[in-house]
Amino acid sequence: MKIPLFRKNRIDWEKDPVCHMDVDMGNPNGGTWVYQETTYYFCGPGCNKAFQKEPQAYLSGDKKIEM
Ligand SMILES: [Zn+2]
Repeated sequence: MKIPLFRKNRIDWEKDPVCHMDVDMGNPNGGTWVYQETTYYFCGPGCNKAFQKEPQAYLSGDKKIEM
């Protein structure tokens, strides 16, 4: 797991629901996707795609990708 050396002030971080990495909400590398009126943030396009395929599996914790 990569930990940023420093975090700028006033940036909100959200967990990627697929790999559980911290994602910069202001600039998510993998973009965002809205599911059931909740916006999810992704570390990369791969996680975004995986989540769109089976959102329930990741939200329930059945499925998880280790990065
Ligand atoms: Zn991810």
